[in-house]
Amino acid sequence: MSPRRRGSVHLASAVAESAGMPGRRVIAVIGAGASGTLTAVHLLRRGGSSVQVVLIDPHEPGLGVAYSTIDPQHLLNVRASCMSAFGSEPRHLLDWCSARGIDAGAQDFLPRRLFGAYLQSLLVRWAESDRCTLIAAAATAIESRPGEVAVRIECSDRRTVIADAAVLALGNGAPAGLAGIGPGTPYVADPWAPGALAQVADAHRAVIVGTGLTAVDIALSGAAARPEIELCAVSRHGWLPRSHLPERPEPRAVTAPAGPVSLEKLVVMISAEVRADPPAWREVVDGLRPISNDVWRRLSLQDRRTFMGELRSWWDIHRHRMAPAIGDQISRLQGSGRLTVQAGRLESARRHGDGARIEIRNGSSSRRFDADLLVNATGPSSRIRDSDDPLVRGLLSSGLAQADELGIGFACDSGGALVDARGLPSRRLFALGPPRRGELLETTAIPEIRAQAENLSRRLLSGPVGQRAPERVRSVAGAG
Ligand SMILES: Cc1cc2nc3c(=O)[nH]c(=O)nc-3n(C[C@H](O)[C@H](O)[C@H](O)COP(=O)(O)OP(=O)(O)OC[C@H]3O[C@@H](n4cnc5c(N)ncnc54)[C@H](O)[C@@H]3O)c2cc1C
Repeated sequence: MSPRRRGSVHLASAVAESAGMPGRRVIAVIGAGASGTLTAVHLLRRGGSSVQVVLIDPHEPGLGVAYSTIDPQHLLNVRASCMSAFGSEPRHLLDWCSARGIDAGAQDFLPRRLFGAYLQSLLVRWAESDRCTLIAAAATAIESRPGEVAVRIECSDRRTVIADAAVLALGNGAPAGLAGIGPGTPYVADPWAPGALAQVADAHRAVIVGTGLTAVDIALSGAAARPEIELCAVSRHGWLPRSHLPERPEPRAVTAPAGPVSLEKLVVMISAEVRADPPAWREVVDGLRPISNDVWRRLSLQDRRTFMGELRSWWDIHRHRMAPAIGDQISRLQGSGRLTVQAGRLESARRHGDGARIEIRNGSSSRRFDADLLVNATGPSSRIRDSDDPLVRGLLSSGLAQADELGIGFACDSGGALVDARGLPSRRLFALGPPRRGELLETTAIPEIRAQAENLSRRLLSGPVGQRAPERVRSVAGAG
């Protein structure tokens, strides 16, 4: 796995590698982005001295893709009051800010890098103890044999971790590649890779494929670095995310329909709610959040497929909104002509002089752009079987895991246990956050991730996990 990004905040050097302590249950958490960090922190808080967490990630812990940005313009898209690491302590993040003299209100959209620093601060406390071991490597394979009381995790630095259970907090995975790109085309395949935004900043003209929140980040960074930049963002519908209002409106209580649910019935119900009071569409969308996962599970597979194919983009721009200040900046960029947004799909891109000649097709018409750079902002690959992570491929090919019915994440039981190829939920392998997105509509934002982390920590610290031999983390010959 290649390093994809660099964070601005560093964990204390006291983060050390230590061996398992006798009598403690060892939980390996693979991935130390927000999901892995929150899982580790919930386990350590709840578990007292009975748990040891081994956190495995080749990248700086606590940040992940979303919070490793160093651009202060990149704001959270969720208000500070909803971003606490602990659901039962909604002021935790605000109090953390206040203790550091940072002026932050409940309704504010804070810089994402500040939130990364917050997550890291939670981890540092434990990393300085012998209860949290950090392994700066990728997990490449997992073995978990029926009847055996441990899982065995191979890491890219040739270390082996033996744990009572493993939690997969792998995030979204790398972006899916774009088709039709000729050799030598100046192209940013992964906008979160180190140096990617600097490439955008060097461009006079760039075409961004994708018009979601990632494209918004790219536009902000590019425009701040180069005031005369011209950006064209293209997607199937040409829709930008909508903006939040400065003050959070109270979500409308929406009741899930009883009995069998169909997508058609839901669309009729939601349309009627919105038609009754069009300006209050945010209240309706936010009001659906508490019931979305329940309703999602009750939809037929065909309806879930239809939603993903036909309604997902519409849902995403209304559900995952921009901070108001970001919305204003984007409007200004559009107003000044520095950012144009259009419907279309990338037909081809090839090297042309020092730049790229890009063909965009919309229906029967095609438009040509000469730009310095093409940027892929289409988001993560939507097929888990296409993952380039050897760990994911191995889990699927060994039958320890199977893809969910939509093929976009892991099949899991309702508590996050991986379901194996025989359809049985694992007692030792679990997942949270984005890898559960086939089973859960709401699983990628902090409020849901922290609830999953809390529930998983409760589950992992009770039950059969932990009845095994003491020596649980060991180095093999040649490992550092
Ligand atoms: C740009 C952006 C902005 C966002 N803004 C917000 C926001 O404001 N509010 C909000 O609630 N949500 C936001 N989100 C949603 C976001 O998905 C979650 O908040 C959260 O960051 C997800 O974290 P994660 O740890 O699951 O995934 P990631 O951040 O992707 O982290 C996964 C980690 O797993 C590691 N990993 C992967 N494979 C392996 C392996 N084999 N071995 C070891 N480690 C591995 C990776 O190195 C990575 O560090 C945003 C998402 C993005 C992309």
